[in-house]
Amino acid sequence: MSKRDYYDVLGVSKGASADEIKKGFRRKAKELHPDRNTDNPDAEAQFKEANEAYDVLRDAEKKAAYDRFGHAAFENGMGGAGARPGGGFGQGDFSSAFSDVFDDLFGDFMGGQRGGGGGRRAARGSDLRYNLRVTLEEAFSGLQKTISVPAAVACSACDGTGAEGGVEPTTCPTCSGMGKVRAQQGFFTVERTCPTCSGLGQIIKNPCKVCGGAGRVEKERALSVNIPAGVETGTRIRLAGEGEAGMRGGPPGDLYIFVEVSDHKLFERDSVNLYCRVPVSMAKAALGGSIEVPTIDGGRGRVQIPAGSQSGRQMRLRGKGMPALRGGGIGDMFIELAVETPVNLTSRQKELLKEFDDLGEDNHPESKSFFSSVKSFWDGMKG
Ligand SMILES: [Zn+2]
Ligand SMILES: [Zn+2]
Repeated sequence: MSKRDYYDVLGVSKGASADEIKKGFRRKAKELHPDRNTDNPDAEAQFKEANEAYDVLRDAEKKAAYDRFGHAAFENGMGGAGARPGGGFGQGDFSSAFSDVFDDLFGDFMGGQRGGGGGRRAARGSDLRYNLRVTLEEAFSGLQKTISVPAAVACSACDGTGAEGGVEPTTCPTCSGMGKVRAQQGFFTVERTCPTCSGLGQIIKNPCKVCGGAGRVEKERALSVNIPAGVETGTRIRLAGEGEAGMRGGPPGDLYIFVEVSDHKLFERDSVNLYCRVPVSMAKAALGGSIEVPTIDGGRGRVQIPAGSQSGRQMRLRGKGMPALRGGGIGDMFIELAVETPVNLTSRQKELLKEFDDLGEDNHPESKSFFSSVKSFWDGMKG
């Protein structure tokens, strides 16, 4: 692989002056900057090549060696003090060379980003989060809710410009409208938000008295929100453009409504299905019959209990669950029986139950099978 001529790499002639070499490198560095070459995989390698060339040609000693011997000057340890073996891409050199061109690059990129705005620098407003607690009934039916949102809105006195009497803001003298200032930190040039204009790039000589120059004021806003049926805890509803107003006429942020559905006394929810635990008397569970149950729409449902139902038995009421948030039908409601042992018996009731028990022979198949297992377990231990 033959190395390209360093002068060619920088696009300058052999007799180029130090200044021309510097300009050539800056031109290349701009062309090959990673921000501008996101889909050019060769850019990085080319930038390294340019950096290596510049590293040699800007140094009088190295340049003289290169002019005499070409690339051979830096091979096999030849070339004298300071010359690195071929390849020559060191992090330290990269940084210093890069910071050298950064000043130009920044100005350029900032200008590019700001283009079209006519010099006015406006910042997008923040997104807002609003926590909304709804009942399960509301989640079932959906609802229209008026919420009060504390938000910054565009100042009406100055039309959001922040300037008294509609006087246009002027370019910030500290940062020349960049919104950022640069500081040297070792090899690196770092950018900071301009302290004079807080990054807006503009200052207002005569700030609006109502908003103090911000172009927006704090205000409670009443907002009517449509909460669709089927929302769950964790559902987020985005209201585009309903967030905080932007700074000095910038676009507003969005408002996010975070839904939380309260627990319900009767129903437990699992996605679109509802569960309701219904106590039934021992007698009813034994004899069978129908029970009335509540439904989430506020109505009543009837469920048939088969004779001999045990505690924990589930019955389904189709279509009595929750609606799915984005269409897709409605869930079911499950009734779980909880057979209740009677308490506070009168002496008459006790009598009847004793009599019932004496008559009972084959009424408890589960007990019968359990105790037969217990017996064989004990028998097994003896053996
Ligand atoms: Zn500034
Ligand atoms: Zn104002």
